[in-house]
Amino acid sequence: MTSPDTAAVPERARVVVVGGGVIGASVAYHLAHLGMPDVVLLERDRLTSGTTWHAAGLMATFGSTSQTSTELRMYTRDLYARLEAETGQATGLKQVGLIELAIEPGRLEEYRRVAAFNRLCGVEVHEISPAEVARRFPLARTDDVLAGFYIPGDGRVNPVDVTMALAKGARMRGARVVEGVPVTGFRQRRGAVTGVRTAQGDVEAEFVVNCAGMWARQLGELAGVSIPLQAAEHYYLLTEPIEGVDGDWPVLEDPANYGYYREEGGGLMLGLFEPVCAPWNVGGVPADFSFGELPPNWDRMAPYVERSMSRVPVVASIGIKKFFCGPESFTPDLLPIVGEAPELKNYFVAAGLNSIGILTGGGIGRVVAQWIAEGRPDIDVTGINIDRLHRYQANPEYRATRTVESLGLVYATHYPGRPMRTARGAKISPVHHRLVAQRAYFRDVSGWEGADWYAPEGAEPQAGELSWGPSMTPPAPA
Ligand SMILES: Cc1cc2nc3c(=O)[nH]c(=O)nc-3n(C[C@H](O)[C@H](O)[C@H](O)COP(=O)(O)OP(=O)(O)OC[C@H]3O[C@@H](n4cnc5c(N)ncnc54)[C@H](O)[C@@H]3O)c2cc1C
Repeated sequence: MTSPDTAAVPERARVVVVGGGVIGASVAYHLAHLGMPDVVLLERDRLTSGTTWHAAGLMATFGSTSQTSTELRMYTRDLYARLEAETGQATGLKQVGLIELAIEPGRLEEYRRVAAFNRLCGVEVHEISPAEVARRFPLARTDDVLAGFYIPGDGRVNPVDVTMALAKGARMRGARVVEGVPVTGFRQRRGAVTGVRTAQGDVEAEFVVNCAGMWARQLGELAGVSIPLQAAEHYYLLTEPIEGVDGDWPVLEDPANYGYYREEGGGLMLGLFEPVCAPWNVGGVPADFSFGELPPNWDRMAPYVERSMSRVPVVASIGIKKFFCGPESFTPDLLPIVGEAPELKNYFVAAGLNSIGILTGGGIGRVVAQWIAEGRPDIDVTGINIDRLHRYQANPEYRATRTVESLGLVYATHYPGRPMRTARGAKISPVHHRLVAQRAYFRDVSGWEGADWYAPEGAEPQAGELSWGPSMTPPAPA
């Protein structure tokens, strides 16, 4: 670990980065590498003390049909692979590979499409047989597996070490990392941010980057900036040592059974993405929550744990060392919140990482740094830009209901045309009742209930079964 910078808070800086998780450290690292002078990172407590310290550290380049997300993932993996040589700080990167399981035809179809697209982006992906899955991860049950998708270059990393390496790399290029200094407010003039406030004095700055993780929404409010993210419970289970488990086995993901599996301490880590989730502290995240854990809700989670154990049955007969629950931020559309706030010039945000902050953190830092230094990002940010979001999405009721759905979508089969089902009805047009009378099937269109199609007379406007073929067709009249 690098030693904390205990120097006093400076009176001015070119850029103040707020928050020392993986994202803040990466933003500072990339700004420093672009030659930006006077970069100061202010961390409320200690580096990684928010969400980063307890992440599982999975590294996956596979899985997205967004070129931007895939580029962020590939860049991040390459960066972590060279950070130790640059900084002397190990990152714990182990490129042991990753296997995604397809056990239903719909997911097999999805993964074949994703694999084709990811290969186009430069990711090495192989479709492998159930026997090959069993050879690479011998404790997995494979009788119901249709295929595995194997990515040899993926694997795992140590999130704390990677953050320390990024912070060290930033310092080596002149950035300052100051711990134990919460930002308490912002200074602004004529629609632009001009600095931050702290108990140790104000820091004048040309740019401010809010990388405060699950606190980012509350912090944004102090500047009049809307950042509609919400913390939610997120779980993994650690077993006692299991005979035969090998640290060189690939990470295994079985989304249909809500689980991922990797070696940890001679046993297994079994991580979960349950389909129906639980937001945490909708009213606000406590200011003093550091290296914190949440009490696990066994009753809510037991059916999902049981189901995920069925993929690696030996887990059911092994002692459980720890059932860990920690908070992570989720956004209304499961995409990160990145870029210059529409409400305040030179106020940037990089938060809401939806449980892939480690595996995309390098890329997110690069994009934000580039955006600040050059005035524009170096890749297409349309899908992740903060300007896509609306103020109403930050209201407590919206966050409380939408988060129940969004985390669960991580492991869903991503059929085209699937509408968001929660937090609906936010905006209704004056003719809504007439559309209802015409049997409209509604979609969420930027918060508006928009008529997508109309059911024939005598039929209900209900969506058909989701599929990769024709779907969402209106039912025939009764
Ligand atoms: C159980 C679990 C497993 C996970 N597994 C994975 C995984 O396998 N792979 C993956 O990619 N991701 C994973 N994640 C997600 C990952 O941990 C997060 O996406 C990532 O850590 C978010 O980083 P961050 O920097 O945005 O937030 P944080 O790490 O929370 O950093 C924000 C920082 O801001 C500081 N801060 C807050 N307010 C202020 C203020 N006012 N002034 C100054 N500083 C402030 C906080 O102290 C904190 O250090 C997992 C998350 C959980 C909960």
